Amino acid sequence: MHIMRLNIVVTNTTALHIGSGRPGVVTDSGVVTTPLGEPFLPGSSLKGKLRSTAERLAPHLGLTACLLGTSPTDVDCCTDGEWAKENKDRLEDIRSEANPNKKRALIESVTCDVCRIFGSPVMASRLSISDGSVIKWEGIIQARDGVVIDRDSETTVRGLRFDYDVIPPGAQFQFSMELSDLDEAELALIGASLLYWRENLLLGGGTSRGLGRMRIESVEAWQVDLTKPEEKLGYLLHQEMQPISDWEALFQMYVDERLREVGSIA
Ligand SMILES: [Zn+2]
Repeated sequence: MHIMRLNIVVTNTTALHIGSGRPGVVTDSGVVTTPLGEPFLPGSSLKGKLRSTAERLAPHLGLTACLLGTSPTDVDCCTDGEWAKENKDRLEDIRSEANPNKKRALIESVTCDVCRIFGSPVMASRLSISDGSVIKWEGIIQARDGVVIDRDSETTVRGLRFDYDVIPPGAQFQFSMELSDLDEAELALIGASLLYWRENLLLGGGTSRGLGRMRIESVEAWQVDLTKPEEKLGYLLHQEMQPISDWEALFQMYVDERLREVGSIA
């Protein structure tokens, strides 16, 4: 058993569009405010973002992603509703398997690499992300007056306006991520996604209008190998983990190794 923990600080470099601006109201924008009126990033939104980044990068690393039925793929994954409809017999075999170990193996054999990391209704996730709390901001939420644009004609829709709230650039948020028992190929995928996020993370609403650009400000990382007795004891007694001095170099190594394995680089 191997555990890696990352404390990640991100900064918004353009205005960040937050949900309704009303406390506790969650919208699909992915950024909300606490009852105290402070912005925060729900862990579920961050995890969803990381998942879609990983889905896009997976094929380049020789890994599979079913896309959960949002677009057609030929990936074998029981989480994808379309696959489930077409493979009722195989699902019935899994359902009727009484031996829990055999059942688990059967489920794994029809679960894509991305669902295996991020979890599915029939498989526990091995990646968790906390909510991102704000650690630095100006303390102001600005209301902006948006004009609704008709996407087809690219003209303004007469008389249609909406208000939305933004956090000015420069706020910092911190969240933590824990990876349990990821193998080297899986670490390459999450590593590649985080390396991509350094300059290319988009959060909240209005990203097509340039809002919600984020960059990774800093990452602190630790790991522990629970198969080593001396590390296991320290972890169980004091939550001790070994610091990783250069997270970028470590993940770059996993990515390069994986690319070599799948023959993308010499
Ligand atoms: Zn899947």
